[in-house]
Amino acid sequence: MDSISEDVLAGSRRALARAITIVEDGGPEATHLVRKLFPYSGKAHLIGITGSPGVGKSTLVDALIAQIRQDNLRVGVLAVDPTSPFTGGAILGDRIRMQDHTLDKNVFIRSMANRGHAGGTALATYDAVRMLEACGYDVVIIETVGVGQSELAIAQTADTTILVLMPGSGDEVQAIKSGIMEIGDIFVVNKGDLPGANKTATEVLHSFELAELPTGWRPPVLVTVAESGQGMPEVWKAVKEHHRYLEESGELKKRRKAKLQAELQELVADIARNNLKDRLEHCPQVKELLKKVLSHKVDPHSAAQGLIQELFGESQEAKV
Ligand code: GDP
Repeated sequence: MDSISEDVLAGSRRALARAITIVEDGGPEATHLVRKLFPYSGKAHLIGITGSPGVGKSTLVDALIAQIRQDNLRVGVLAVDPTSPFTGGAILGDRIRMQDHTLDKNVFIRSMANRGHAGGTALATYDAVRMLEACGYDVVIIETVGVGQSELAIAQTADTTILVLMPGSGDEVQAIKSGIMEIGDIFVVNKGDLPGANKTATEVLHSFELAELPTGWRPPVLVTVAESGQGMPEVWKAVKEHHRYLEESGELKKRRKAKLQAELQELVADIARNNLKDRLEHCPQVKELLKKVLSHKVDPHSAAQGLIQELFGESQEAKV
């Protein structure tokens, strides 16, 4: 295990691939690895990319990688599918991998699929980002498949979130307008070669008039043709400007603090849930109480309250 962390720090891609698998699987090995490498993390610029299937996210990521490489920065990509186990994410990652960057040692692409535990994908993503950072990647792109709240939540583990639309993405524009969809930091209307791209861009701009924008940053709306690379320099420029804004306004510190706090809470809740489950399974009081509930002498709510009180020695009800 220690040799893996040393190899990751030395820049080994093989060790990095192994390390990401370990953190995806979780457990004591993952905890050990994160403990070793956490001090070397926190330095990369994290870019989240989300949007409905088919809008051109993979194509855009591919074009963005080429753009970022022109600045001689090392790029890691995590393609995350929070909803479907294994399939979607894997296909997506392979799709990008098949393109131009396979031979570039400064580009690392990896797909991560949901391994079945709720909330696990976001937690594993945080740790996978740390592995990439420890391995010396300057920019990490987190691409999520789909456009639901969980995908957006994962994209928003990034510093800069790009929401990708295309001509005819009317439903998404409506969702932004009505405030259902949280707002990205940068909007991209891809497939600018198709009719209606400028109209969609204008609609998105109009929707901001109604939405609550974070103060100090007005999300730019850019039109791209990811297939030809048209508009990509502007996207990369906007990403860099957003990062500069985050740093100068102190927002970067705030966002990262909020993220770490959320992660900490989730981890504590995770550990507590597992510990409690183990304890309850072997707890004689539970069997006794269950008998009483079965015979309708005690209702389930009171039984649960009573148990918590017994286990933790204080009333939880008072806190609700
Ligand atoms: P994803 O599902 O969002 O990752 O979308 P893909 O990147 O797989 O792209 C979906 C389809 O749109 C593919 O057939 C792409 O070739 C096509 N596509 C991507 N970018 C463009 C573009 O700028 N213009 C046009 N016309 N098609 C594009």
